[in-house]
Amino acid sequence: MNKEATGGCACGAIRYRCRDRPIVELICHCRDCQRASGGASAAVLLIASDRVIFEGADQAFHAVTTASGNRLSRGFCPACGSPVSARWEGDSIYSKLQALYAGSLDDPSTFSPTVEDWVSRAYPWHTFHPDTLKFGERPTPQAVRDRIVAYFAARQPSSG
Ligand SMILES: [Zn+2]
Ligand SMILES: [Zn+2]
Repeated sequence: MNKEATGGCACGAIRYRCRDRPIVELICHCRDCQRASGGASAAVLLIASDRVIFEGADQAFHAVTTASGNRLSRGFCPACGSPVSARWEGDSIYSKLQALYAGSLDDPSTFSPTVEDWVSRAYPWHTFHPDTLKFGERPTPQAVRDRIVAYFAARQPSSG
């Protein structure tokens, strides 16, 4: 995904602009992501939450406890129902992230996943991306968490 990506919901009431590249782009096959996306899996990009600007209508949120045991609040458009975003609750490093659904991008072709998790929950009719690191359940810290930590550590001197 490029640095100035834009996106929004299907009806256009909710719009967003990204002011940075995503830290991690991943595909999650957990049951909750299947439900929330309405598809085989959820394709999401994780970006620093202070680098995403939302405009237009307010999202509605539905909070769930994920397969990994975290509280996640999923944002969608109350008018058209499109999944748009998700935020982790609590005070872990994940709470500094904004997840955006790849399908909400104006140009989803720029989505470039490196990780697929919970592939043990994937369905036989789903074809996997050939080049991703795959995990049966949660990804290893090296695949996701360490990259988030490194991103925020690298940002510290200039912009906090
Ligand atoms: Zn909408
Ligand atoms: Zn998931």
